[in-house]
Amino acid sequence: MKVHEYQGRQLLADAGIPVPGGAMVESVDAAVAETTKLLDAGASLVVIKAQVHAGGRGKAGFVKLVKTADEARAAAEFMLSNRMVSVQTGPEGLEVKRLLVADGVDIAKEYYLAITVDRGARTNTLIASAEGGVEIETVAEENPDAIRKLALDPIRGIEPYQARALAFELGFTGRQVGQAASIMLRLVELFRSTDASLAEINPLVVTPPSDAHPDGQVLAIDAKFTFDDNAMFRQKAIAAMFDPTEEDPAEIRANEHGLSYVALDGTIGCLVNGAGLAMGTMDIIKLHGGEPANFLDVGGSASEEAVTEAFRIILSDDAVKGVLVNIFGGIMQCDKIARAIVGAAKEVGFSVPLVVRLEGTNVAEAREILEAARSDIPTMTTATDLTDAAQKVCAAVS
Ligand code: GDP
Ligand code: MN
Repeated sequence: MKVHEYQGRQLLADAGIPVPGGAMVESVDAAVAETTKLLDAGASLVVIKAQVHAGGRGKAGFVKLVKTADEARAAAEFMLSNRMVSVQTGPEGLEVKRLLVADGVDIAKEYYLAITVDRGARTNTLIASAEGGVEIETVAEENPDAIRKLALDPIRGIEPYQARALAFELGFTGRQVGQAASIMLRLVELFRSTDASLAEINPLVVTPPSDAHPDGQVLAIDAKFTFDDNAMFRQKAIAAMFDPTEEDPAEIRANEHGLSYVALDGTIGCLVNGAGLAMGTMDIIKLHGGEPANFLDVGGSASEEAVTEAFRIILSDDAVKGVLVNIFGGIMQCDKIARAIVGAAKEVGFSVPLVVRLEGTNVAEAREILEAARSDIPTMTTATDLTDAAQKVCAAVS
């Protein structure tokens, strides 16, 4: 589960990590009012930022620094009336419904700080770089030595001496060292206590020296979090931050029926039971020259109603030019799938070719059900095995 930057900033602030003040708004007028409030309170710079579940906003023109209410109005109007297309969105981009209006900061230097799960090392890992900012992906590719990684002990997390050593290595000086180390310790604890799978501050900035902060101040001015969906039952406060409008509506519908559904770009809708079989099915479709339109695992114990819903979801995708049903009935009974196919045929109708491969528990009964309904499902063919099924569906859509 992802959250917006403004929510991530709140989590950072609650954890004691310094973050410039700001507020989330949903209209141009509110953005102007909030900007005016910050300017009246003494800010000389305000930043307006699109709140969407994707990064690359800076380069896409959806992070703007403003100095007057008029500039704020122009920036907010632009962001709320244009879809944001960045390297992290598809070409169709994302609609922007929320903005963050925050105190802008003067930046002396931008750092990168994140914690994520390193599956190779089987541990959580802190990642840091003195080359933070919008070019971090390029740095990672062209100058990987500029990226420091520190494996976190599963019990102790990070020790204060490790954080200080890393802060020195990154080039923090004077009082910045203690500030940066404290941010690292707090971020590790926040990551652990919220069941996060990603906590990223990019950039973590140092401000120029001032009277109040002769060595500058270390601040988080962006926040990106991803949380483990399987932990949301015990993370009520995090779960409450969920913004359904940022998600694919089909994925939300599927979720409500206990189905694992991920929309993809291809033309072959897949209905499969078991994540392993679903991946195998996608592979074999690709092997035969097709592209899956989705990943859909109905699981082992889905009800007939849930499976019918799965067909509704697949068939509501206009890109779907053919459907492949691949079921290995273990706990799942093939006749349940067959009945759902017949139900979906009656209710929505299969206007596209449907290839069905069933094997396992109650398969004989399932075949009888499908045979009896054949005249109602004229686009249906059956397949003997997975290769046969993949070849048939790929031929049908090409
Ligand atoms: P992202 O591109 O989606 O990751 O959005 P960020 O919040 O990271 O902003 C992108 C870039 O805009 C940052 O790397 C900064 O260079 C710049 N930026 C963002 N906020 C401020 C600010 O308050 N002051 C200044 N001077 N630059 C900012
Ligand atoms: Mn950023």
